[in-house]
Amino acid sequence: MQRIIIIAGPSGVGKTTVTDYLYKKYNIPRVITHTTRPMRTGEINGKSYYFETDDTFKKLHFFEHVKYGDYQYGSSREALEKAWRKNDLVTLIVETEGVASYLNKLGNKAYFLYLTVSDSKILKQRLIERGDDVQEIEKRINSQEYKRDLRLKPNLERFAHYIINDNLADTKEKLDKLITSLEK
Ligand code: ADP
Repeated sequence: MQRIIIIAGPSGVGKTTVTDYLYKKYNIPRVITHTTRPMRTGEINGKSYYFETDDTFKKLHFFEHVKYGDYQYGSSREALEKAWRKNDLVTLIVETEGVASYLNKLGNKAYFLYLTVSDSKILKQRLIERGDDVQEIEKRINSQEYKRDLRLKPNLERFAHYIINDNLADTKEKLDKLITSLEK
């Protein structure tokens, strides 16, 4: 059965780490998202993003899309179908705001994984260690989105499967079990 693990959680919690692990160990591909921002050096179309014009962007069927500054970003049905052609199980990192759209449109094909840590101070430390700009970190952790992502709204809570990502070895073990159960 085709399924998608949608992964949400605050910045620094380990969403990228988890998708990378699932890709490296199980070859589970990530759904590539779309953007109208220009390609940066080193980026590859179809790998980092699907790079779109305003016109091609308009034609896609989105689960969610947002505008940051001058540019649009979004995840589409077309990109999901492409990922599913590679593998029945795929992943996608989503904003908490976008989760409901996936659950509504995909029903039980969407497995909602919410990552947290037991103490939010850990997150700041991780962002510093990851090499993020300290001023940017301050700005981000004081933002509405960040505060929103620290907790789930009750309407989403009941659909969420939680992993507390304090310890990476424990998390990997939980992911291994999850993949075994989803691949049945
Ligand atoms: P996100 O994609 O959610 O913003 P990342 O996956 O980039 O988060 O992780 C943020 C930083 O924390 C990275 O440097 C990553 O290597 C590190 N990290 C992820 N999981 C753990 C963990 N369980 N313990 C310690 N460090 C972790």
